[in-house]
Amino acid sequence: MSLEEVYDTIIIGAGIAGLSSAIYTSRLGLKTLIISVDVGGQLTYVSSIENYPGIEALSGYDLMFKVRNQAKSFGAEIILDEVIDLAKHDGVFVVKTKGGRIFKAISVIAACGKAPRRLGVEDEERHIGKGLSYCVICDGPFYRNKKVVLISFGNKGVEGLEILSPLASEVHYVTTSKYDESVEVAKKFSNVHTYPGYRVTKLSKDGGVFKVNLIDPDGSVKELEADGVFVELGFETRIDFLRKYVEVNEKGEVVVGKSCETKVEGLFAAGDLIDMPYKQAVIAASTGVIAALSAVNYVNKVKGVTKSLRGDWGKKTQVTKKKSFRL
Ligand SMILES: Cc1cc2nc3c(=O)[nH]c(=O)nc-3n(C[C@H](O)[C@H](O)[C@H](O)COP(=O)(O)OP(=O)(O)OC[C@H]3O[C@@H](n4cnc5c(N)ncnc54)[C@H](O)[C@@H]3O)c2cc1C
Repeated sequence: MSLEEVYDTIIIGAGIAGLSSAIYTSRLGLKTLIISVDVGGQLTYVSSIENYPGIEALSGYDLMFKVRNQAKSFGAEIILDEVIDLAKHDGVFVVKTKGGRIFKAISVIAACGKAPRRLGVEDEERHIGKGLSYCVICDGPFYRNKKVVLISFGNKGVEGLEILSPLASEVHYVTTSKYDESVEVAKKFSNVHTYPGYRVTKLSKDGGVFKVNLIDPDGSVKELEADGVFVELGFETRIDFLRKYVEVNEKGEVVVGKSCETKVEGLFAAGDLIDMPYKQAVIAASTGVIAALSAVNYVNKVKGVTKSLRGDWGKKTQVTKKKSFRL
């Protein structure tokens, strides 16, 4: 595509929200591009999803594989890249990526969800996937009989300990909080060493072995060695490129109206990124659809198409009941 060509909509994020948006926008004829760091988002961390309507139990990966194929079957294009900048000039959005690419669109749907909260130490990104993991459920089993460091707290800490302790030879549990339920649970496991109230100051690698530097609230320092490091500190939105255009609540979520619209005309947001009280796949998918239908109406308006999508089925719709279920 040349720079002068303009997509009808660019969707940022290929989680369940973004891909659900894409199914609707592309099926309704909008030229749709999805730009995403990965395909599948948070659901790829889920070993079995049992509460998505119509699907009794399926791994998150398999569900997202189907949803991706569905979006592609209607013509949605997907590229793997990270969006780092967004601007609107003369009614057209200009989207810039980390890979140095520039794309244009009439509308944008931000569906960038949430990402695991980082430790915030230097060079952290360099170790991701090379022994540093943000998902004990996904990567814990790779550390059978190995030494690991787990940095977490509360419920997530308990879950991490329960998975890692039976597998690993040693678990060094660094918990940000000095007293919480996970500190009590840690005492049950003979191979767990706990560092309550400690903070990680540095993460480095020496010949394949991690060195994790800690400091306690009194200022004493410690160095741990491990084969793998797990960080389970919850999830956060990462929307630096959006902040200047949208209202953001105290949790860092984008505030939207009933049609998933933001303060900027043509810019919509959906999924875990928005200020919805519950974070579930079906909710992310449905807000993705709301954003998509709003984008379709917006693009039609910009193009001077007079028809717009109706909000409901309307009185004239004929509904034929074909079969009834036997209970
Ligand atoms: C461990 C775990 C278990 C869960 N279990 C369930 C469950 O059983 N049932 C259920 O209903 N829900 C469950 N959830 C919640 C569910 O996964 C989320 O509500 C849902 O996946 C959110 O989807 P999303 O598309 O809004 O965001 P995400 O899944 O976070 O997807 C966002 C996408 O945007 C991309 N992205 C982010 N920033 C950028 C950028 N700047 N440029 C380009 N791309 C970007 C990301 O790479 C990602 O692909 C679980 C979540 C977790 C973490």
